[in-house]
Amino acid sequence: MTGTAGRRVNLLDFDRPGLEAWFAALGEKPFRAVQVMKWIHQQGVTDFGAMSNLSKALRQRLPEVAELRLPEVISEQISDDGTRKWMLRLPDGGAVETVFIPEAGRGTLCVSSQVGCPLECSFCATGRQGFNRNLGTGEILGQIFLAARLLGQFPCTPARRRITNVVFMGMGEPLLNFDNVVRAINVMLDENAYGLSRRRVTVSTAGVVPAMDRLKEASPVSLAVSLHAPDDRLRDQLVPLNRTYPLKELLAACKRFAGEESGSHEQITFEYVMLDGVNDSSAQAHALVRLLAGIPAKVNLIPWNPVAGVDYRRAKPQAVERFRAILQRAGLITITRKTRGDDIDAACGQLVGRVAARAARHRRERATG
Ligand code: SAH
Repeated sequence: MTGTAGRRVNLLDFDRPGLEAWFAALGEKPFRAVQVMKWIHQQGVTDFGAMSNLSKALRQRLPEVAELRLPEVISEQISDDGTRKWMLRLPDGGAVETVFIPEAGRGTLCVSSQVGCPLECSFCATGRQGFNRNLGTGEILGQIFLAARLLGQFPCTPARRRITNVVFMGMGEPLLNFDNVVRAINVMLDENAYGLSRRRVTVSTAGVVPAMDRLKEASPVSLAVSLHAPDDRLRDQLVPLNRTYPLKELLAACKRFAGEESGSHEQITFEYVMLDGVNDSSAQAHALVRLLAGIPAKVNLIPWNPVAGVDYRRAKPQAVERFRAILQRAGLITITRKTRGDDIDAACGQLVGRVAARAARHRRERATG
């Protein structure tokens, strides 16, 4: 174990096995890991001195070797529809956004996995700001911890629970930050922490094929695939990652994930952002039906949310409805996602690290004005 000299270890960077190993290296029993996890993720306690079931000696020792390092909440915005968006600043000055979407009977937390995103999908705000770095496990878990605290979920009881679902649909491509994302998921699922069921945690990917197979092995959570086009020519333009992992390989990976052979039938969600005159025709709907044949699929049609400086238009409601009807008639469960939080730029694809963006705008304004 390293890191005890000089820099203190951030306990948010560990899942249970990691924390058990860390306590073992400290000469403590592994059950201390479970005690500490419960204090942090169920009670919301960050002060080691208040963790009353630890030995006095351990309570004194912990602050010398460990800490709970959380991102700093620099803004909170609340949408007319109740959606909340927090901007979090990281120690190196980067910023990410986290969004909470309340609905009847559930609350979904949309978390970021990277600062920026390297994939450069042509219609997405995050991709246009460029890529900075991966988030650490503690920076991903910091998002659910802070949201739980700000939503008044601590100390967590079934009645107080606000976050029932987590989706990795914020900034970044989660499967390009595999190890940190899986460790964070382990804590989200752990009964000693957030205790979410694996079906209520969704990893959304633009299609990093090899990592999809690894995810099924490491943590069989729900999978969403950002498809957006029924053929390679169009998808190459919208989602440049398609040039590396074209549709044939992507759909084969989806079949493996769904586990058709093993008979486990995991349903996969396909996200399809509706762009006027680009991917919303009847012919494209029929092509999508053929493409998804044989996969237990659910399709989410997402009205495109405007992104400054990008030349697409949101598909017309009639086009979305026609598209939906074709999929539905072919037996595909299809829903049109309601746009949430767009008045605070919290909707899909509108998340950007505003700190950097604002600074850049200031510079431009000064240069031109
Ligand atoms: N990188 C991952 C997760 C982040 S994006 C992925 O690609 O799945 C979450 C979803 O929002 C993706 O389906 C993405 O394509 C979609 N999205 C991006 N920009 C959007 C926009 N401007 N309007 C609507 N949806 C958008």
